Amino acid sequence: MLPDRITCSMSDRLYYADPSLSSFEARVSDIREVSRNQGRSLWQIALDRSAFYPTSGGQPHDTGMLTATSSGGAVLEAPILAVEEDEQGEVWHTTPKPLLAGTAVRGYVDWSRRRDHMQQHSGQHLLSAVVYRQLGAATVSFHLGELTSTIDLAREAISPEELERVEDAANEIIAEDRAITMRTIPRAEAEMLLAAGTLHKLPGRDGDIRLIEIDEIDLNACGGTHVRATGQIGGLLIRGTERMRQGIRVEFVCGMRAAVTARRDLATLTRAAAALSVGRLEVAEAVERLLAEGKAAHKARQKLTEEMAGYHASMLLLEYPSGQGRRVLRRTFTDRDANYLKLLASRLVASAAGTCVLLASTQEEPARVVMAASADAKVDCGSLLREALAAYGLRGGGSPGMAQGQIPNAQLDALFSGLEGRLTSH
Ligand SMILES: [Zn+2]
Repeated sequence: MLPDRITCSMSDRLYYADPSLSSFEARVSDIREVSRNQGRSLWQIALDRSAFYPTSGGQPHDTGMLTATSSGGAVLEAPILAVEEDEQGEVWHTTPKPLLAGTAVRGYVDWSRRRDHMQQHSGQHLLSAVVYRQLGAATVSFHLGELTSTIDLAREAISPEELERVEDAANEIIAEDRAITMRTIPRAEAEMLLAAGTLHKLPGRDGDIRLIEIDEIDLNACGGTHVRATGQIGGLLIRGTERMRQGIRVEFVCGMRAAVTARRDLATLTRAAAALSVGRLEVAEAVERLLAEGKAAHKARQKLTEEMAGYHASMLLLEYPSGQGRRVLRRTFTDRDANYLKLLASRLVASAAGTCVLLASTQEEPARVVMAASADAKVDCGSLLREALAAYGLRGGGSPGMAQGQIPNAQLDALFSGLEGRLTSH
């Protein structure tokens, strides 16, 4: 016989009283289907009591497992993929396995994920408190991300020295292992604390207020999960700042994340140092030196290329002696790029009278085309090339003195023959 459907009631949130609880017993109080995708359904289960934390207050949800044992002794495992709360305050556990209302279950919270969240979240309380004490800047929002966390501060800017002082102070408080305690007080009492400036803000909802206190450092209304003492935060590493529209964003990591982040940075730095054959602390100078050398080398190469284009132009003009009327010089290169073509074209028409040039580079597909004419050649390269390319449905153009475009390699000869015909006919 199926058990009676239990009247839906708000689940008892076990993490409020004991944030270190990683497994618990409960009963399914409600179930609903949330999605059906390619034959796979997802369900949401409500429990009469739960240690699973739902996404809220900047802290992501827990994951884990629910198990139910049948009368025959078979154990059903329902992985918990997400946990959320609805507007009525009910906590819903998302799982691919349906569990009927009334089923007795055992819940297991993925503890490494939760401990990580508690470290980042408690670290945020500490960081915000230190920033407020040292710089007078209030925290306006908090985000706990996959890799790092951020707080947004109501402040225009923050200097590297200020960040260093804040980081040092936070780590000193971590080393002092100060107690982090929780208590619940009536809202009226909390409002008095707010008026006295002891509390900075209160949640909008009614009911008792849950206060989290870092001994002699910070008092905050918060519904999240926290470690028992600052020592369990394990360490706090600031990762940088970013200017936001309404203040400044500070990125940080705590606990194991700080070690993982520092390890990753070290690996990157070591790799860069090895590639540069310098010590890790000399990487920045070595990169600056390389950049300066690269810039100088680029300048020298540009000068050589220009000189080469000058000689190249002289040689080409010897191959195409000037005769009667306009001289048309046509050349296709497989090993020169469009920039070199432009340089060569400008040298050619600058040093020879009555000359038109048609140059192409087939280094890439489509081919790059450059057309140029000396001032006395009485040719409008821009409109001639534009018209010629338009016949192929292509675009291109430029000034009377120089124009450029692109055309598939296969059509290049036909394009040039047509242009050459027009240039030599009048
Ligand atoms: Zn909190």
